[in-house]
Amino acid sequence: MKYYDKLIFECSKPGRVGYTLPANAFPKAEGLPQGLCRRQAPALPEVSEPEVVRHYTLLSQMNFGVDSGFYPLGSCTMKYNPKINEEVAAMPAFAGLHPLQSAPGAEKVLEEMDKALAEITGLSRFTFAPCAGAHGELTGLMLMRQYHLNRGDNARTKVIVPDSAHGTNPASAAVAGLEVVEVKSLSNGRVDVEALKGLLDEHVAGMMMTNPNTLGLFETQIEEIAALVHGVGGLMYYDGANMNPLMGLVRPGDMGFDIMHLNLHKTFSTPHGGGGPGSGPVGVAAPLVPCLDQIRVSAWHGNFGVILRAYAYILMLGREHLAKVGEYAVLSANYIKECLKDVYKLPIEGVCKHEFVFDGLVNDGAHDEVPGATTLDVAKRLLDFGFHAPTIYFPLLFHQALMIEPTETESKETIDAFIAVMRRIAEEAAEDPTLLQEAPHTTPVSRPDETTAARSPILTFQDA
Ligand SMILES: *Cc1c(COP(=O)(O)O)cnc(C)c1O
Repeated sequence: MKYYDKLIFECSKPGRVGYTLPANAFPKAEGLPQGLCRRQAPALPEVSEPEVVRHYTLLSQMNFGVDSGFYPLGSCTMKYNPKINEEVAAMPAFAGLHPLQSAPGAEKVLEEMDKALAEITGLSRFTFAPCAGAHGELTGLMLMRQYHLNRGDNARTKVIVPDSAHGTNPASAAVAGLEVVEVKSLSNGRVDVEALKGLLDEHVAGMMMTNPNTLGLFETQIEEIAALVHGVGGLMYYDGANMNPLMGLVRPGDMGFDIMHLNLHKTFSTPHGGGGPGSGPVGVAAPLVPCLDQIRVSAWHGNFGVILRAYAYILMLGREHLAKVGEYAVLSANYIKECLKDVYKLPIEGVCKHEFVFDGLVNDGAHDEVPGATTLDVAKRLLDFGFHAPTIYFPLLFHQALMIEPTETESKETIDAFIAVMRRIAEEAAEDPTLLQEAPHTTPVSRPDETTAARSPILTFQDA
């Protein structure tokens, strides 16, 4: 029997126990309101200790995480999170704090983090209130609008966003009540500066960009872009979720950005995925510092535990080694790209930063009436070999996008094993695409209806 085939309630047998409690030394409570008293014993599962241990150990092994294997999910920076960060965040002196407590030590951490992030990014001041990257974007856009309003300029309603942007960018702009205007990319994956010029006027509140962009490419004309946007009175917003390859090497503040968020839960090694917890501190240039007091987006100090983990990580690496992070992340990404580009289509040649995008297989095995293997099929087949799938069908610029971000924490052996599997999958696709189309063959669930699984998941026990 597989212990995860059943819920713990279904493993229950009357009389089985995994514990003994000491004899009850308390007197029987008298005089409790009848309506509040339990009439039946609670329906708890009756199971032995080894059954409980096996059940939950096997369930935990069905999950996939950075601690169990390679997780090359593009635009997510799924890097290894050093365990020392967890120890620091769990220290009772921090973990037991109440937000209303005056705690000079905790305040000092926020102060030091403010200084460290200002130095890493080239901006002046940070707020730690936002609890995710997208939350940071919303905060940053509210700050952008506040800045214009403070100057008595009410006419700035547009935000320019490149077509390669992360989906949260236009979404955040819309939530902030701003109109999204898209600017096209050139065939080399960079923003079309001529097209941008045509969009600039006195209604532009600002422009949102990430650099390197979502294709993993550095926007080489960034200074010119910033000068153009500033020229019409707009502000530059930097989506710093992709800061991993830049730390200690290049600073958004120096590129001309005025506002940015960081994803502490990506770049600064906090475990993430499954919706949290996150931290998306927002930094601003000097002229916007007064606006920080005008915008409130969460209670107290944000996700303080995540901030602590990032603090431990920054102190552990220090100035010298933070700069190495990006160098190794970029090296890993380029190595994988070059080793696979003969079997996976590389739409944009050249050196990438921490990630890159393939556009499906060179030979997908399609012939006559036989359909070929898609990017989805490649991603599913990878699971059979113990790797997490890359990001697929994003960014939207290519039909079969497969976006790979290896990060700096993977060894050459792991990366070589991934390359070997990707090459094997490409061979399988050419010879027998159905093998991929029916994958994965080894996981407890193979191909759920993904829309139903995401929109109508069954999360509670239903007795059959
Ligand atoms: C992850 C990511 C975000 C959103 O961050 P969340 O913490 O998931 O809200 C925004 N922009 C980019 C480029 C990202 O990679």
